[in-house]
Amino acid sequence: MKIITAVRGFKDILPPETDKWRHIEDTAHEVFRAFGFNEIRLPLLEKTELFRRGIGESTDIVEKEMYTFLDRGEESLTLRPEATASVIRAYLEHSLHAAESVTKLFTIGPMFRRERPQKGRYRQFNQIDVEVLGPDDPRTDAELILMMIHFLRRIGLKNLNLELNSLGCAQCRPAFRDAIVTFLRGSEENLCGDCRRRIGTNPLRVFDCKVEQCGELVSQAPNMADFLCPECREHFEKVQSSLSLFQISCKINPKMVRGLDYYTRTTFEVTTEFLGAQNAILGGGRYDHLVQELGGPDISGIGFAIGFERLASLIPEGETDTPAGPLLFIAALGDRALGNAFSLCNRLRMKGIRVDMDYGGRSLKSQMKRANKLNSAFTLILGDREIDENRALLRNMIASTQEEVGLDELEETIMKIAR
Ligand SMILES: [Zn+2]
Ligand SMILES: [Zn+2]
Repeated sequence: MKIITAVRGFKDILPPETDKWRHIEDTAHEVFRAFGFNEIRLPLLEKTELFRRGIGESTDIVEKEMYTFLDRGEESLTLRPEATASVIRAYLEHSLHAAESVTKLFTIGPMFRRERPQKGRYRQFNQIDVEVLGPDDPRTDAELILMMIHFLRRIGLKNLNLELNSLGCAQCRPAFRDAIVTFLRGSEENLCGDCRRRIGTNPLRVFDCKVEQCGELVSQAPNMADFLCPECREHFEKVQSSLSLFQISCKINPKMVRGLDYYTRTTFEVTTEFLGAQNAILGGGRYDHLVQELGGPDISGIGFAIGFERLASLIPEGETDTPAGPLLFIAALGDRALGNAFSLCNRLRMKGIRVDMDYGGRSLKSQMKRANKLNSAFTLILGDREIDENRALLRNMIASTQEEVGLDELEETIMKIAR
């Protein structure tokens, strides 16, 4: 019979790659906790309307990429394509805003987008998502960006480039939007079909278009910086001066518009050089209207999402401590020895010591081979004769030495080595 394979665009994460993932997750938990963030775990499935409202109808995600289906022909449900909308949905549903003035949350898990399969892109991909909900103090923005850079450095990434921009607020953004529409209308014939359509629906999306001629045009477009109101200008300056306290250098990129309409004020992106090319690792920004858009009170938020797969691929080899093999491999020969070994092996495991053995009763030679393959630090050779004589051979696989150990002291000896 033919084996069944995974669905196209869906991928297994195998060991030892999973060790890298564990390292990233552990570091995220440690760093985020220190900055006062708590973990939230969310369902993968949400009502479709959440993303229609939370991401926007006229976005590629909602238009083309969502896994949406009618549940038993009744309710339209969607596998989440991103986490922010779900975080806010949970925040509002459980009235977390009533419990504290600032809520700092993070979540790590899979997202789903039906993109065209290509190298390094998966339809189930993983993200680290971090959100702060509360007043839009510029220090909050700086704190979040600082934490993010600190985290990326901690997991071993170097040469990080931080780019910042401010997208203004409800007072000053419309004039910028109008200026962009006027500008785009003036050169409509140079835009791709998608972008021509975007002028009427979501003109700022043109900034994200990958078509070369659109990119060229956009480089001459008006900048938000020239439209910022005094409050937004002051907010943006405060973000930058707060960051400079920590020697975090950043580049102002006026073309970073992050095409979603709900973004306001601070937006940011981090890229790193890898294999000679600039790679975006993450993006994020402040959103002042998203909570209201989802039916909540007037509460501001700021957050970012990191693609886990990309991150894992950028971590230099040797940066994660590859966990060693088992401390002990028990090579048991003969029925009585197997019985003793089975009980010793599992007793030690329950004390937290990593021990392995074979139950197959294979030759000593092939068991030693297995111990080597597992990279075991010690091997205990236990045969029926050793049991009769109440002693066994404990072999140090690294130093290639061995000593006789009395069976009564065996457990104690192993515990001592483990310490
Ligand atoms: Zn403003
Ligand atoms: Zn275009």
